[in-house]
Amino acid sequence: MNIVLLGSPASGKGTQAEILCQKFDLFHLSTGDVARNLAETDPRIKEIVTSGKLIPPEEMTMHVLDFLEKQKTDLKDILFEGFPRFVSQYEALDNFLKSKGDDLDIVISLEVPMEVAVKRISSRWMCSKCGEIYNTETKPSEKSGICDKCGSPLIQREDDKPDSVKTRFDYYVKNTKELIDYVDGKGKLTRVNGDRSIDEIAKDLENIVREASKNDHN
Ligand SMILES: [Zn+2]
Repeated sequence: MNIVLLGSPASGKGTQAEILCQKFDLFHLSTGDVARNLAETDPRIKEIVTSGKLIPPEEMTMHVLDFLEKQKTDLKDILFEGFPRFVSQYEALDNFLKSKGDDLDIVISLEVPMEVAVKRISSRWMCSKCGEIYNTETKPSEKSGICDKCGSPLIQREDDKPDSVKTRFDYYVKNTKELIDYVDGKGKLTRVNGDRSIDEIAKDLENIVREASKNDHN
């Protein structure tokens, strides 16, 4: 049972990936982890990662396959989080798995509207002095804009400002649209509404994976 979990910024995909991996005892392959792992020994990758850029698609594919060969030799029960993002990557991964007698079973796209992503991310604030994190929706400070712990003003990270979130969101949608259409055409896509509680989404995902594993003959 090999699953791909895609999700826009603030879709909650990281949280759901962890829940799924625990529930079904899956190997969690996150491209963030692969990149951070590489950055430890490769200064060029470290520069890409710390500047917030993406590793070029073909190169990322190579690193993921390389990582799999080393870390997960049986290639069963893997949850791919945030990879593949492009059709070329999907095909390379699927062919690689097929050459080892397995394949990709389902692709789940966890989706939230852009306004929700903006609201979720831009509600994050940080103390300018002690670094304490607040959230105007879920964990507000007692006095608006002021840190409870040290009384310093709260600031918003550049990346968390609404315009920046919109740019990241657009970039994600534009980048993954081709892959999503492609997977949909193969009948392997399941879209899940991410604008709900963590528990509701987790329950949905559990059912989807259970259903798919009935059809998995590998
Ligand atoms: Zn503070």
